Amino acid sequence: MTRQRSFFESDRVEQLQQPTRYRTSANKNEVHCGMCGDTYFLDDVSYKHVTRVIEVTLENPFLCEGCELENEESAAIH
Ligand SMILES: [Zn+2]
Repeated sequence: MTRQRSFFESDRVEQLQQPTRYRTSANKNEVHCGMCGDTYFLDDVSYKHVTRVIEVTLENPFLCEGCELENEESAAIH
């Protein structure tokens, strides 16, 4: 059981790619920040998640680092 869990954890870490401002071998999917419209690149897993949310809600859930921080700060005030 312990072995399964550590396998699962290492698998999750591999999938957690940070968005980048340039195309990389892992981040090849272009997205635009939902707030400032800047171009970023996501890995396949994150991109699939973003496009799924857009399909369901018609809203772009992707925020770049700066906007996400701003968003969190204003959410903390309310
Ligand atoms: Zn932004």
